[in-house]
Amino acid sequence: MKYLVLSIMISLLLSFNSCFSKNNNYNDSSAKKENHQINIENANIKKNATLDIPENVMNKTKQSNAIRTVSHPDVMTVLVNKKYFLPKNYVPKDLVYPNVSFIFKEKLEKRKMRKEAAIALKKLFAGAQKDHIYLSGVSGYRSYATQKVLFNRYVKEDGYVNARKYSALPGSSEHQSGLAIDVSSSTGKCAATSCFANTKEAKWLDKNSSNYGFIIRYPKGKEQITGYKYEPWHIRYVGVTTAKQIKKRNLTLEEYLNVYPVSK
Ligand SMILES: [Zn+2]
Repeated sequence: MKYLVLSIMISLLLSFNSCFSKNNNYNDSSAKKENHQINIENANIKKNATLDIPENVMNKTKQSNAIRTVSHPDVMTVLVNKKYFLPKNYVPKDLVYPNVSFIFKEKLEKRKMRKEAAIALKKLFAGAQKDHIYLSGVSGYRSYATQKVLFNRYVKEDGYVNARKYSALPGSSEHQSGLAIDVSSSTGKCAATSCFANTKEAKWLDKNSSNYGFIIRYPKGKEQITGYKYEPWHIRYVGVTTAKQIKKRNLTLEEYLNVYPVSK
């Protein structure tokens, strides 16, 4: 039964992906696209049940073609991306300072994470250290207000279209969930930049993060699904069971939840 469900899911994924690439010219009507999206979501609600994904994880959303606001921002597998936004006033109630080193000394907002993720992060850093990999935090929690300031600055520097490629609109940053953190080597070299991909720290994170409940949220080659280029430094806590499934099946969080964003 499990294999049947899995094979249905894979064929559905393939059909959607090919559909996506065929429609790259965006001649398709938006109504048609939206119907397709709803069909996929409906079809997968049943399948997700067999995968033990809690129903409330499925982000019951407003039925609109545009941006949707997640209604369960506190679940560990909450989906936040260019289509699914956190409520503007959402601040996690259990933010703490993880007991790990950061590349800065100050007690800033960006040092915080939600408690469960903070505990897991400490274990991850300790596990890395055993393998002689020394990690530091770069940026964890980020409030809606901070994201707004950042995004506006990037738009000024690079223009709106470019800024959207690497920065999130306020409300759509995973950092607001308190479950995501950018990580670097303890020297801070290549922190949150593409050269981090070639470091031993990045390789360790890719191989081992899932054992601690984290995923590489924006993997290589999945830009059309996540809406973001490869970010080997941005890890996202989803819980150990989910992280291991995502890693084993080489999925993104969008694919795991079967909720695809429109990346443009
Ligand atoms: Zn990040």
